[in-house]
Amino acid sequence: MSECIFCKIVAGELPGKKVYEDEELLAFHDIHPVAPVHLLIIPKRHIVSLVECQANDEGMLGRMLLLAPRLAREHGLDNGFRTTINTGRGGGQLVFHLHLHVFGGGTLPTHL
Ligand code: 5GP
Ligand code: ZN
Repeated sequence: MSECIFCKIVAGELPGKKVYEDEELLAFHDIHPVAPVHLLIIPKRHIVSLVECQANDEGMLGRMLLLAPRLAREHGLDNGFRTTINTGRGGGQLVFHLHLHVFGGGTLPTHL
């Protein structure tokens, strides 16, 4: 069984407030939001980080990015939002399953 918390959310072994799901991607609310709306978009397949992505992940990465404005709109972020991918410990990554942060709706932190 995977020890990865995001794989567990994908498998339904851990709860997640899901906002979007298709064959390839899952999106859910961050458990510790830094803004009134804070979502995470992940590939269902376990990929550690952006560093591990290959040329054949181009489509998946594009779909992750294109999902961001759709989910932002659906969550009322009409004034804009921020997207972030933290990569590696030096990049502030804490969960080693690729994820795209999408957040906004208030005064944003200077980083994350
Ligand atoms: P990172 O620093 O790796 O880019 O961000 C990981 C994010 O995952 C953090 O914002 C953190 O709040 C979120 N997170 C960590 N554990 C869980 C969890 O069990 N459920 C959800 N929904 N989010 C989590
Ligand atoms: Zn995983």
